Amino acid sequence: MKEVPEIIVADLGGTKVLAGTVGADGKLNHRIKRESKGGGNLEEILANLYAALDEVLATSSTLPVAVALASAGAIDLNKGVVTHSPNMMAVNGAPLRALLSKRYNLPAIMLNDASAAALAEHRVGAGKGSRHMIFLTVSTGIGGGIIIDNKLYQGADGTAGEFGHTTIDIDGPPDTCGGFGCLEQNASGTAIARNAVKLLSEGRQSILSKVLNEQGVVTSADVAEAARQGDALAQEVFNEAIRRLGIGIASMVNVFNPEIIVIGGGVSQTGDLLFAPVRRFVAEHAYKLPAARVRIVPA
Ligand SMILES: [Zn+2]
Repeated sequence: MKEVPEIIVADLGGTKVLAGTVGADGKLNHRIKRESKGGGNLEEILANLYAALDEVLATSSTLPVAVALASAGAIDLNKGVVTHSPNMMAVNGAPLRALLSKRYNLPAIMLNDASAAALAEHRVGAGKGSRHMIFLTVSTGIGGGIIIDNKLYQGADGTAGEFGHTTIDIDGPPDTCGGFGCLEQNASGTAIARNAVKLLSEGRQSILSKVLNEQGVVTSADVAEAARQGDALAQEVFNEAIRRLGIGIASMVNVFNPEIIVIGGGVSQTGDLLFAPVRRFVAEHAYKLPAARVRIVPA
């Protein structure tokens, strides 16, 4: 069997583990996905992660030279530990990098998942060719990564890029991060769904009432679809979330003066419903020179 030197990689999130191999060309091969329970205990989460990587090794002819983990949560790069992962509390403090290195007898590296996505977008994705790039993921939560002068900027400890935990509402509710009124609490998919359900529970009329009755839940994708169909409640909720996202992004433009902001994650799949107002907001409210420079594009 031909053996190809590759890195075995895993992406550990609150609801799933993705794994595969990456070769010198940066392409992901042998991709597999396993559902996981973010609320599970550490043993369950580790068993699922190991099972995913074991399956990749068993089904590929890879000669692994390293193992790389992208994990949700704030990471202490120096220790190889997740320090705070709101959607996967059981891994907080676990020495994931050392555990992987020991199990696979390989050098191990570990990154925050949004930082890893920023690197990928910069090397082989929408940000290719740029020197200064910001990546944002807007889904269940909001995460981000920073590329400065072609390099991933991670800060002193590895926690840089947590745009989801910048305060945009000084009178907002407290957050698990220790802050309050965070961007993530205002503009994530979770926030969009929660705000829609709140208005429905106050007796507001909307086509989303039917969705809630039939499915038992309303997702941000449901809200976006209803907004597209002209539903007033859905438009109010979605547009307000995107206005708040726009406020956050205008601040990023003023701080970083990036050439490009790449936005991924489930909420970005709504296309122009998100990108048009965000671009307009940045044009109107960020400094003129960096606002004229920056391109805001889908991942
Ligand atoms: Zn926060």
